[in-house]
Parts: sequence; structure tokens; C-alpha cells
Amino acid sequence: KSDEQVLLKTTGLTKAFRGLVALRDQAITLRAREIVGVIGPNGSGKSTFFNLITGFSQPNSGQIEFKGRSIVGMRTSRIVALGIARTFQGSRLFGTLTVRENVLSAAQLRQPIGPIASVVRGPLYQRNVAAAEAIATELLDLMGLTDQSDRLAADLPYGDQRRLEIARALATKPELLLLDEPAAGLDSNETKVLAGLIRTIRDRYGVAVVVVEHDMDLIMGLCERIQVLATGEVICVGTPEEVRNHPRVREAYLGH
Ligand code: ADP
Ligand code: MG
Repeated sequence: KSDEQVLLKTTGLTKAFRGLVALRDQAITLRAREIVGVIGPNGSGKSTFFNLITGFSQPNSGQIEFKGRSIVGMRTSRIVALGIARTFQGSRLFGTLTVRENVLSAAQLRQPIGPIASVVRGPLYQRNVAAAEAIATELLDLMGLTDQSDRLAADLPYGDQRRLEIARALATKPELLLLDEPAAGLDSNETKVLAGLIRTIRDRYGVAVVVVEHDMDLIMGLCERIQVLATGEVICVGTPEEVRNHPRVREAYLGH
């Protein structure tokens, strides 16, 4: 296996909150274009894992390498610029901006328009604005939100808001997309649509995707590999089939 293909590699990743160990000695290796699931009951450390990768919180110990370089201690904005994007478990949309403005504002995170450029408005500024507009148009179309472009984000139905969050994450042109419970609150039909979209995103943009869920159903059909957490510990990693049949998963997670 060539190491060049390794996109994300964590080792010994540990995070404690005042003695409560939220994640213990977690390790995962992710290659370009992989779709990997991380599942586990509530409180098992899934969101903590994303928070550590994206610089929202700092590990007590362990390493996080993205494209071969350590990103521990880097600011979130820098990590986004390197190519990691995420969605949050709860909505983080700008409710008073339109749908299109939400995506445009995210597009600027990867290529920030500096204070001077935004006053001078030279050719580079013009090009960045045009590029952001093009990305927004494309992503709104992909997510089935074109008709809603001019509505306020807060006025969208819940399922549309969840897809808008993914559009925002994609607007930063990530190589790695982290989705935190993207199917939460969706009905089974919306969940099927979402699974198809995640595959399309991977195929079209070549991104690797980590999907966190506490529900196994979406994950099983979508992911090539799954890591199972329980109270901060990795209890198994494998294909959907291996995970489904793992005794510790059945016992600790499925309750039988
Ligand atoms: P999951 O996303 O799998 O539901 P989390 O990663 O959010 O779990 O949380 C793992 C554990 O860490 C939980 O016990 C949670 O209460 C605790 N935890 C998470 N974030 C914090 C924080 N900022 N302060 C204190 N405890 C936290
Ligand atoms: Mg969570």
C-alpha cells in the first residue's frame, strides 16, 4: 500500500474532559475517496473525534496527520484551508442569510478575500467572486436547492436545511468531508436520497467522507469500512458485514 494515498491518519488520539475520557487511544487511517462510517451510541465520542480533527478542541495526546503533515494545534481556519470540511450535529446555518448566501459565505473560507482586495476589487477579487458564484450555483443544483436559492435559510424545511449544510461544507472544496449525524431527523425517504448524494459527492469531487451516525442503517449501505465506538473506546473496525457480526458490537451496541 502506498502511503501517498493516505489522506488522514490518527494514532493514539485521546481526549478527556476533567477525568471523563471522551475518546481513548483512537486510531484510523483513511485513504482518498473512501467512505468510512463511525458509529456508536450517544456519548461514545463521535463528535469529539470530529472536533479534534477540525481543531475545535485539542487532544490530550495522540497524533492527527492530514496529507502527511501534523495538524494538531492548527487553527480551524487553517485546517479548512488545507481541505477538511465538516457539518455539525445541530444546524449551524446563517438563518437570516439566503440559501445562496450561505453557500457563498462558505466558498470564501477556502479562498479568503482580504480587506484590501475587498476595497480595491481588482482582477483577483473579481475572479474569486466569480469562482464562488459558480461553486454556489453548482452545489445548490447538486443538492436540489436551486429553487430555494433566494429563501432565507431559516425558512427552509428541515431536510433542505440539512442538505444546505452539506453544500456549505463542500463549498470550501474539501478533500475530506466529515458529516456529523447527517440523517438525524430525516425520514427514511430523505435518508435514501442523502445516501445517494453522499455517493455522488465522492464520485464527482473525489472527496473522502467520514459519516458519523448513531443509527446503523444509513451507514451499512453506504460505507466500505466502519469503526465502532463505545464510551470512547474503539471496539471494532471492519466491513459492514464484519461489524454486524462482531460479538462486542452485538453486545455493547445492539444489546443482543
Ligand atoms: P457522541 O457524539 O458520540 O454522542 P460526544 O463526542 O459528543 O459523543 O461526547 C463524548 C463524551 O464526552 C460524552 O460523555 C460527553 O458528555 C463528553 N463531552 C463532549 N464534549 C464535552 C465538553 N466540551 N465538555 C465536557 N464533556 C464533554
Ligand atoms: Mg455527537
